[in-house]
Amino acid sequence: SIALDVEGVSHLYERDGGALQVLDNVSLTIAPGEFVALLGPSGCGKSTLLRLAAGLETAATGKVLEDGRPITAPNPDRILVFQDATLFPWRTVRDNIATGLEARGLLGTKGYRIDEVLKLVKLEGFADFYPHQLSGGMAQRAALARALVNDPKLLLLDEPFGKLDSLTRLRMQNELLDLWKSAGFTALLVTHDVEEALLLADRVIVLSDRPASIVAEIRVDQPHP
Ligand code: ADP
Ligand code: ADP
Repeated sequence: SIALDVEGVSHLYERDGGALQVLDNVSLTIAPGEFVALLGPSGCGKSTLLRLAAGLETAATGKVLEDGRPITAPNPDRILVFQDATLFPWRTVRDNIATGLEARGLLGTKGYRIDEVLKLVKLEGFADFYPHQLSGGMAQRAALARALVNDPKLLLLDEPFGKLDSLTRLRMQNELLDLWKSAGFTALLVTHDVEEALLLADRVIVLSDRPASIVAEIRVDQPHP
C-alpha cells in the first residue's frame, strides 16, 4: 500500500516572461506511516513538491497520487504546515485550532479533539491565550495542533521549526517524533537541516539544485522502533 505516489513530476513557474523549471522528473513513493525527509538546497523546489502533495497546485507534467487516486484539491486528510504558519491574531488558541473543524461543520462531533491535541502539544493551559501572548515555540506548537486536530493521514511539514532557536527546535523535533509514534500519520518533512532529517526520518531523499531531481536516497536505521 502506498500513501503518496509522485510519478515523473516536472513543474514550471512563469518568471519574467520565461519559464522557471523547479522540478525535473521527480518520482517517489511513501508508504503509510513512513516518515520521509526531503533535503535540498534553498530554492530547489522542495516547497513546490509539498504544495503539489497538498493539492494546492497541479503538476505541469507527471502524476501525484494518494492511495492511487490523483490529488486534485486540498483536503483535510493532507495538511501542510509551513514555517510562517500564522495563527489568526484575533482568535484564541482554542478557536484557532477549531477553525478547520468549524469550517466543515464538525465542531459538534469532533470538538473533543481540540482538548486532545492541546494536550498532545502541551498547550492545555493556554487554550484561552491569544497568539501575541505565546512564545514562538508555543505558536508553532499551536499551528501543529491546528493541523493535527483534523487527524490528517498525511502531514506535510515545510521547515516547521525553521524560525526557532536551537534549543526550542530540538525540543520540538522530539515532540514531533513522539506525536508521530503515537498518532500514526505519514509524514513528509522539508528541511535544509541535515541533522534534523537524520534525527526524524526513516528515509531521507536528497534533491539537487533547481530544477530539483533526486540525487540520493538514504535509509536511516533509527534507534526508535
Ligand atoms: P524550496 O522550497 O526548495 O526553497 P520552492 O519550491 O519554494 O523552493 O521554490 C522553487 C523556486 O520556484 C524558487 O526560485 C521560487 O522563487 C520559485 N517559485 C516558487 N513559487 C513560485 C510561484 N508561485 N511563482 C513563481 N515562482 C515561484
Ligand atoms: P517555548 O520554548 O515552547 O517557546 P518558552 O521557553 O518561551 O516556550 O516558555 C517556556 C514556558 O514558559 C512555556 O511552556 C510556558 O509554560 C511558559 N510561558 C511562556 N510564555 C508564557 C506566557 N505568555 N504566559 C504564561 N506562561 C508562559
